[in-house]
Amino acid sequence: MTRNSKSGKNNKYFDIPRTSLQKQSLGEAYGPAFIFEADLLLQAASALSLLEAGYTVTVISEHLPHDRSLSYTSPWAGAIWGPSWDTSDEELRQWDRDIVKCWGEMVDDRPDEAKLAGVHASRNPVWKGPQYRENPPKEFERDNVEELLWFREITTVTILSTSDLPPGVKFGLKFSSFCVNSPIYLSYISSRIESLGGTIIQSVLESDSGLSGLVKDAASKLKVEAQDYVFVNALGMGAMKLVPDDKMFPTRGKTVYVEGEAKNITARLGDWGLAYVIPRRGSGYTLLGGSQEAGNWNGEPDTNLTASILKNCAKLAPELLDENNCFKVISRQVGLRPSRTGGVRLEAEIVEMGDLVEVDVIHCYGHGGGGYEKSITSGKKVVQLVDCINNRAKA
Ligand SMILES: Cc1cc2nc3c(=O)[nH]c(=O)nc-3n(C[C@H](O)[C@H](O)[C@H](O)COP(=O)(O)OP(=O)(O)OC[C@H]3O[C@@H](n4cnc5c(N)ncnc54)[C@H](O)[C@@H]3O)c2cc1C
Repeated sequence: MTRNSKSGKNNKYFDIPRTSLQKQSLGEAYGPAFIFEADLLLQAASALSLLEAGYTVTVISEHLPHDRSLSYTSPWAGAIWGPSWDTSDEELRQWDRDIVKCWGEMVDDRPDEAKLAGVHASRNPVWKGPQYRENPPKEFERDNVEELLWFREITTVTILSTSDLPPGVKFGLKFSSFCVNSPIYLSYISSRIESLGGTIIQSVLESDSGLSGLVKDAASKLKVEAQDYVFVNALGMGAMKLVPDDKMFPTRGKTVYVEGEAKNITARLGDWGLAYVIPRRGSGYTLLGGSQEAGNWNGEPDTNLTASILKNCAKLAPELLDENNCFKVISRQVGLRPSRTGGVRLEAEIVEMGDLVEVDVIHCYGHGGGGYEKSITSGKKVVQLVDCINNRAKA
């Protein structure tokens, strides 16, 4: 592996405990890591973590934060944090702990940075995620639900009394959460990468001949020998065809921006689906959602769905309705969550390039509806995998 000097920057961004990232002294020379493709979210989290750990990083991305495309999911996200309800999976809990710590410290200790990044904490009781459940499963019954509430350790949680529930709702919960203005966050992260010495190149990489073809194209565009570098595959839905990965599928999410800022983040889950209201603090508008349509690739914001989102959200944010009981609609949009059966794929693979050449690729995709929530832990894990590859190369 080619040796490159560490970036040498003083980089304090996500405030992940450095010891868990850096298994070697920063004084040592590090091999470089290329991130190929980045939507400047997951890849950016990885890129930032790698830069902080002293690696040299180049991000190659078809889209930059200001772009809008069906094949670029991140700008469309509501981008809030909600806990994992899977109490059996300690790893999933750790993902939640990481993001709450990261965004919490940013808001508390570096408020100017949080403002610049579009990260907001809702420290007042906030209703988010599946707080209102019209027909909750058995485990949400009052006598049982405490077992699900492991996230009391990272946030304040209140179970709503029956008298506080709106008509038709059997279970309700409020807890403090975070909300990220996704387009602002993406731009902020992009500028952080560059300020830490990373390079961002906007380019489409050849993906018709699989991973090896894509790696060759990236190496050729960067005028380097592929085998000297570690590549990170963070292509979102693009990984489905590229890898290929038949566990991947899109989960369509339709949203509507309306004028005014709703009082709370609110969500309601019923047999008919999910409705949510996410105010963009300081922006003067609110995001309404939403749909979760597995396997639907349709990028057009259809009228019927818009109507049902507006109808369902009217109950959650009546303060935004005008004298005719209507929202003032700004825009309608669709994003495709990069879902994956079995969850995120975060692992290393050795890719045969031909002529006995092998290249290390780290896969980091399949984050579904949780790419923001999972970005910090994903970045940490990418660093750990690059560290392992680097150690192997040194041995
Ligand atoms: C409506 C909606 C609401 C959401 N709400 C939340 C939420 O509240 N909280 C949360 O955590 N998450 C949320 N998400 C999910 C989150 O947005 C995604 O998990 C995340 O954006 C996925 O990021 P990604 O990097 O995997 O994919 P993307 O953002 O799609 O990035 C993949 C990038 O790879 C590029 N690419 C593909 N192929 C190539 C190639 N050959 N060469 C170069 N570039 C290529 C694409 O152009 C794209 O830019 C929501 C999503 C939607 C749609």
